[in-house]
Amino acid sequence: MVLSEEEKKARKKESSRRYYEKNREKRREDGKIYRENNKEKIRETQRLYREKNREYRRELDRIYREDNREQIREDKREYYQKNKEKVLERNRLWRENNKEQIREQKKDYYKNNKDKISECQRKYYKNNKEQIIEYNKEYYKTDVGIKSSLINKWKGRGLLDDFDKVYERWEYTLFCDECRCDLDQCTKSRKCMDHDHKTGLFRNILCNSCNIKRG
Ligand SMILES: [Zn+2]
Repeated sequence: MVLSEEEKKARKKESSRRYYEKNREKRREDGKIYRENNKEKIRETQRLYREKNREYRRELDRIYREDNREQIREDKREYYQKNKEKVLERNRLWRENNKEQIREQKKDYYKNNKDKISECQRKYYKNNKEQIIEYNKEYYKTDVGIKSSLINKWKGRGLLDDFDKVYERWEYTLFCDECRCDLDQCTKSRKCMDHDHKTGLFRNILCNSCNIKRG
């Protein structure tokens, strides 16, 4: 039997389709293994690609978003409802892994929107005054609140050190480093954090009178 060109083509196509079908699982598996073993490479390639096409993609995205605003909002809401736990966990992880970047972004944003933000805060404060005061009162009674208010005080006085470490030292120090008096006993022996005013580094935990002597 002699096959025409057309028939040959069709057969070839059919056999390749069958081959493709037959090896679907294996191909999928191979792909998975390849991706697993070449994570870095793939990520780098994707990064390069994105960089190269950034402007173009941004423009496409923008147009797409503009044309599908309602739909996107709806999709997002739906996705969030269905995957709440996952989304929250992912966001938490992302924030943890991008702390530096977030801080920078916030700083930039604050710098560029100072007036808007303070106006917002002023309004918010005005509308929620009672609630905020009540909340703060409760917050500064908690361990975290006590710690944070103390650290803020120290920062204001010019301490530039590992605040957590200094606070730990503060918490566990019961006697003045200099005269060994009991810091818990009376107001006379009020606990003070002593730091080097030039370098900002922590020096000692002292009673009030030793702190005054040191200057
Ligand atoms: Zn002392």
